[in-house]
Amino acid sequence: MKGFDDEGSDIVELGGVVKEYAGGVAALRGVDLVIASGELVAIVGPSGSGKSTLLHMIGTLDRPTRGSVRVAGHDVAGLADRELSALRARHIGFVFQQFHLAAGVSALDNVADGLLYSGVGLRERRERARAALARVGLAERTAHRPHQLSGGEQQRVAVARAVVGEPDLLLADEPTGNLDTAAGADVLALLDELNRAGTTVVVITHDMEVAARAPRRVRVRDGVIVADERAEVGSR
Ligand code: ADP
Repeated sequence: MKGFDDEGSDIVELGGVVKEYAGGVAALRGVDLVIASGELVAIVGPSGSGKSTLLHMIGTLDRPTRGSVRVAGHDVAGLADRELSALRARHIGFVFQQFHLAAGVSALDNVADGLLYSGVGLRERRERARAALARVGLAERTAHRPHQLSGGEQQRVAVARAVVGEPDLLLADEPTGNLDTAAGADVLALLDELNRAGTTVVVITHDMEVAARAPRRVRVRDGVIVADERAEVGSR
């Protein structure tokens, strides 16, 4: 199922990526970015700088206007939409600021739904979901529905859903944006832990404190990368 096991290879390669939206807005104006398998990268920049657009490119949710995008060894330009969906299902997990959990559905089934397109039967989906929830510290909350969980717990369910398929790459867009400091710190610690276990993690944030935790920080401004820093990190 995995298919991208090359240790030390590059999982993301963007070359000269330009993204223009209808109306002539150039959200990205020529981005080169290589992320090696196993990295933990923060993409940081002010609101409107192009971070979400960049995440959409890396996550193959959208195609560039110009330039090349390779993810897990596949050139996005050469793939049909259906093949891109398969690439995402196989290699990429997503976490968003707004959690995006299904209301009225148990934590277990929210996570199990992360395997809907994997061809795995319901019983095994639930088994794996149970293990993923245990991994994020929610073994005791599997029957809870989103409204019965705190914001931090809901985000941990979302992380469990993102990683239940064991993706190579986890993309998180402002994952702490709706959380208080303590719950946010828990979610960041969880992302660190997943990274140490081998998942490549890319976190988008406008929060310098969140970015400061990452060993590599890519700064975006006005649609271009203005700095790419690898610095010593205090908290790891
Ligand atoms: P960030 O995530 O850093 O806030 P975005 O990538 O969301 O930045 O946006 C970058 C620029 O592109 C902004 O000027 C924004 O208004 C514009 N933009 C983003 N999405 C769209 C869209 N779907 N259609 C038109 N313009 C967009």
